Amino acid sequence: MPGTGRFILKTAIYPGSFDPFTNGHLDIVNRARILFDKIIISISINSAKQSLFTMDERKEQILNVVSSMHNVEVASFTGLTVDFARKNGAIAIIRGLRAVTDFEYEYAICQINHELNHDVETVFLMASKENSFLSSTIIKEVARHGRDVSEYTPKNISSALLKKFGYEN
Ligand code: ADP
Repeated sequence: MPGTGRFILKTAIYPGSFDPFTNGHLDIVNRARILFDKIIISISINSAKQSLFTMDERKEQILNVVSSMHNVEVASFTGLTVDFARKNGAIAIIRGLRAVTDFEYEYAICQINHELNHDVETVFLMASKENSFLSSTIIKEVARHGRDVSEYTPKNISSALLKKFGYEN
């Protein structure tokens, strides 16, 4: 606040499965951390969703990628995203939008989150052109067949993918 000498830290959470974290996710983090003072990449623990990487593996992989970013943290959470946002004093939930197909789902989630907590705003960042076709699902499918995906993910993650599917690299 000008004149009071007080500084209010603007925190946003970036929730997702990140199974695994791709260049598309990284691009969103890099752009969001310019807009906010602190970004918490928040890995959701969804017991109904079968994941390839464990929570610890995903956390370690992402920490490795963002270690030099002073205003980016990595956490995991269960329960409602809005509750996690509130607990962390976040004013915004960051989501990435790719094609129109993302829109309907994201719009519904955004509406319900707003009903649940009026104090948290959802901020959408459009996918960059070069990442607009990237999804964790597609990348897993390519790596499953032994193809190198280092063009689409940070290096440590493309190596982890090949290793997970039994291809030595
Ligand atoms: P979820 O399971 O919650 O959809 P994801 O890990 O798939 O989690 O994605 C987390 C967020 O990142 C979502 O808002 C999703 O739309 C966004 N996202 C995923 N891939 C990309 C991409 N290539 N470019 C921009 N945003 C993306």
